[in-house]
Amino acid sequence: MPAAPPLTHEEAQREFAETLSGFTAGDKPEYADYSRCIHCGLCLNACPTYRLWHNEADSPRGRIRQMALIDQGRLEFSDAFVTHIDRCLDCRACETACPSGVEYGKLVELARAQIARNFERPRLSRFARRYVFERLLPNPRRIARVAQLVRLYQRSGLEALARTSGILRLFGLQQRAALLPRIDSEFFFSRLGQTFPAKGPRRARVAFFAGCVAQVTFTELNDATIRVLQANGCEVVVPANQFCCGALAAHAGVRNIARELARKNMAAFLAEPFDAIITNAAGYGSTLKEYPHLFSENPADSGRHSNSVDGNGASAATAAEFSSRVRDVTEFLAELGLSAPLRETKLRVTYQDSCHLAHGQKIREAPRKLIRAVPGVELVEMPLADHCCGSAGIYNVTETAASMHLLAEKMQHAKSTAAPVIVTANPGCILQLRAGAKLHKTGQQVLHVVELLARAI
Ligand code: SF4
Ligand code: SF4
Repeated sequence: MPAAPPLTHEEAQREFAETLSGFTAGDKPEYADYSRCIHCGLCLNACPTYRLWHNEADSPRGRIRQMALIDQGRLEFSDAFVTHIDRCLDCRACETACPSGVEYGKLVELARAQIARNFERPRLSRFARRYVFERLLPNPRRIARVAQLVRLYQRSGLEALARTSGILRLFGLQQRAALLPRIDSEFFFSRLGQTFPAKGPRRARVAFFAGCVAQVTFTELNDATIRVLQANGCEVVVPANQFCCGALAAHAGVRNIARELARKNMAAFLAEPFDAIITNAAGYGSTLKEYPHLFSENPADSGRHSNSVDGNGASAATAAEFSSRVRDVTEFLAELGLSAPLRETKLRVTYQDSCHLAHGQKIREAPRKLIRAVPGVELVEMPLADHCCGSAGIYNVTETAASMHLLAEKMQHAKSTAAPVIVTANPGCILQLRAGAKLHKTGQQVLHVVELLARAI
């Protein structure tokens, strides 16, 4: 790989300023993108926040209008603007409904980056965002340490005490506490750097993207994903130097961190010519597939060190190459075809579309095809399966009331199918739906598509 040319003095200064401030000069909604909105309003009824509050300012059309006014200097950054943008789930149901091809997800992430630079949030919020996006998520060791502390809280009896003593209720934390994921006994980090051979003749060689928090909360799911891939003739490599995909940072507008993580992941996964880069999380998948968005609007990134992923020079072309290899595990297996024999599993299930799979990646049929492939499984569609469950990254923590509203609606629809199992394709949705099953006492179990397959293999 050719060595990257040294930075000029101006470039180095700009990069230093960007690193300090957490944004880059190019990060704002662009006219070419927001002007595609023709104000038709066809997205309004697809939007969960519009359906909740019936307020134009909390609809996709209203938010795009506000972004345009800000860009044209006709609207100030204010509490009201920030609240309307914060309240958006980034579920992208509006993109599916839009006849004009508005890339709303891209717009809202850029608006959040613009807010990060122009609006001072309360001190506690600033501190929490800095800690989570800049210090915790990019650092696997820190994630492991925090997870160990949470596990101690969960297993020592402190959690049960907090629940029964009423202290959570006193501080209004009861619902948030119900969303806290169970920390695994063994973390997936120990699998990094390992290769898992294909069972039978090798049909593909793939790299597995394991996630960040998922490595301390979804070890079993990650193991099941590898087992299902192996059973279907895939050799699975888990690259050692992988990091958080940057989805949460990108969604929150902390794009310098998302870029830094993207560069590291591109270097780790492009080091070998894998047939595919596999993820079992719809949220990671849509960010990994959209890495080019992180670089394309920033000429300083895309032009300086063409095709290089070392140092600061990741290019849009490299991001495009990386993204073209990313596959959701359901998409990949449906394309490859299941070769592992599946035993009969008598079960009635319903499927919840994850927003970032259905709306972000336009994948709806692949998971359903895999579910139907299991002999004995009956798939019953729930009403409005592609409406957001309210999980949306950390939305259920930051906008708990709205999230709980959407969850209640979702559980009602899931319950109406009388299916004892809800299947989905995203760890965030799994956590939210499990909390929903408990809170609404539906008694339903929640599984990932690959967990259903793993049971049948
Ligand atoms: S991303 Fe979801 S919540 Fe946000 S405007 Fe679009 S439909 Fe509404
Ligand atoms: S459907 Fe598309 S073009 Fe119509 S108002 Fe919504 S975002 Fe704008």
